[in-house]
Amino acid sequence: MKEANGRRVGVEFGAPPAKSGKQDLRRRNTLLLFHLIQSDGPTSQADLARRSGLSPATVSGILQPFIESRVLVEEGKSTSGLGRRASILAFNSRAILTAGVCIDLEECEVALVDLSGRVLDKASARYPRYTEPNEVVALALECLSTLETRNSLHRSSIAGVGVAIPGLINSKTGLVQVASNLGWHNVQLRALFEQRLGVPVRVEHLGRAKAQAEAIWGKGKNQRNFLCLEIGSGIGAGIVVHGRILRGAAGIGGEVGHMPIDSAGPACACGLKGCWEAFCAGPAIRKRMAQKLKDGIGSISVLNPMSSLRDLNAAFARNDAVAIEVIEESARYLARGLVGVIWTFDPAFILLTGPVVNDCPCLMDAAKHIITGLTGNARSFDIPLILASEHAAAGVVAASATVSLRYLEELASLNGSAGSPHLPKFLAGFARQS
Ligand SMILES: [Zn+2]
Repeated sequence: MKEANGRRVGVEFGAPPAKSGKQDLRRRNTLLLFHLIQSDGPTSQADLARRSGLSPATVSGILQPFIESRVLVEEGKSTSGLGRRASILAFNSRAILTAGVCIDLEECEVALVDLSGRVLDKASARYPRYTEPNEVVALALECLSTLETRNSLHRSSIAGVGVAIPGLINSKTGLVQVASNLGWHNVQLRALFEQRLGVPVRVEHLGRAKAQAEAIWGKGKNQRNFLCLEIGSGIGAGIVVHGRILRGAAGIGGEVGHMPIDSAGPACACGLKGCWEAFCAGPAIRKRMAQKLKDGIGSISVLNPMSSLRDLNAAFARNDAVAIEVIEESARYLARGLVGVIWTFDPAFILLTGPVVNDCPCLMDAAKHIITGLTGNARSFDIPLILASEHAAAGVVAASATVSLRYLEELASLNGSAGSPHLPKFLAGFARQS
């Protein structure tokens, strides 16, 4: 993790150290400047010098090879100040793009995203639940081909593909150990994509990918300790501790949905009983609603067993008896798990995202009130629960973040030698295209 004038500028500056201290310093400074451009958008070299604390000459020396190879291009001139107007530098979004793929239960979305997180175009495909991984990958690649054709892009312009998916995901190996809500077990998802694509692929847990995107472009920009909690068909988290995403020994850190809440609780998709998500993820809430209706509570309820979470939210606002019972009970479980997470990680705030958060805001409000009662006079009741950023929390943007970070690390390490850095053939290729 680097600091620029005391400001955190991103997460996971984790590239391996270069051979010498001097090379490593140049690599780190390159990465620092890349992250400033990635995080805050196009900017001038003078502004980069001011924000990084590096001298203007150092900034110029570091960036020149990337300007020459058109990794960085001029995007207008600065409008303020006297004298000569400075060039505003941006990543070349015509030549270097990433693709973000977000795989959900019945739909995958694919987007072309530049290195600054701007979405250029997107496409999606629907499929029945429990579709085989091969078929979902084929549909995602069809979407990508459609986008390439529509934008007159060659595959070589795609620096990498990031795939975000809920479940037990080992992001180091690209293995989906279990995506129980999709019915997938031990799927080598990264290999499935790479075999057909011929470009680097990174597979990441949806919650961790969103936390990473929040750290670059969203509400986590200036915060080293926070959580991004995804509540949908399951519950997963991206946990940022001291500026780094928590991955754990097996690469599956953040699977808070399987925290045991009550061993006598309902069955969880993981095979155990009473996990947090078995009480208050989307399917559990709808199951509770169906059971309450069956039990005959509130015979004049506007709800039925097929009602959506949006219907439930609307019914709660109209004081529907079943909706009130379902929301209050679900909120008690949601709050209980949140308190566990708060005590364990001591986050500055928790960002909430996912379909349940979007469709059922009354549940979030109810949980916030309950948390205060569960924590007594401890500090955890001060922890803000806030909605994640709309842009950064988009699954496809989050997916692309994982691969653009890695790409920038690789670019920075190429700039690790003093003097004239060696830029490889693929950069020369980009220069020719643009
Ligand atoms: Zn479980």
